[in-house]
Amino acid sequence: MAISIHPLVDNGVKAGNPGFSGGTLSCKCTSAPVTVSLGANVAFDHVCGCTKCWKPDGALFSLVAVVPRDKLTVTANAQKLKIVDESAPIQRHRCTGCGVHMYGRIENKNHPFYGFDFVHPERFKEQGWAAPEFAAFVSSIIEAGFPPARMGEVRARLKELRLEPYDCLSPALMDAIATHAAKAKGVLAS
Ligand SMILES: [Zn+2]
Ligand SMILES: [Zn+2]
Repeated sequence: MAISIHPLVDNGVKAGNPGFSGGTLSCKCTSAPVTVSLGANVAFDHVCGCTKCWKPDGALFSLVAVVPRDKLTVTANAQKLKIVDESAPIQRHRCTGCGVHMYGRIENKNHPFYGFDFVHPERFKEQGWAAPEFAAFVSSIIEAGFPPARMGEVRARLKELRLEPYDCLSPALMDAIATHAAKAKGVLAS
């Protein structure tokens, strides 16, 4: 049996609808769910193996993407949200009822990804959001207890799903981080 990565990619990655322009994320609470409205499609959708992202029960990876922070509005039951770790670079706003992280926000204006919020597109009520494109922080699943000897199976399955495995972020995102650092140092013109 193929190794399970995440329930929404295990049967193949579903293509997005290029016309998708946002929708509503809902937490898992059956009463008074937290809802978050997104006024744009997500970008840089990927599966992530880090230990900080919210994952559904039993999943090895999370499914996570970004959206401009000015396109995100909490539309119901905001009082249920609590920041997981105020000192983390990404402040993850978690529903205290069901545990789902509704969005992660960067408050440090000097952070390379300032201006983007992190969201879990699987919580969209609608279909058609941008499909995941790669796998990030693959080696980090070991930190959550996955056996190192089976990492070959995980990377092979990710390649089969055309989710290129990286042990940090994708080249495009690593280049964006390095460009931000180079501009801050003055070695590249901004
Ligand atoms: Zn909830
Ligand atoms: Zn992560």
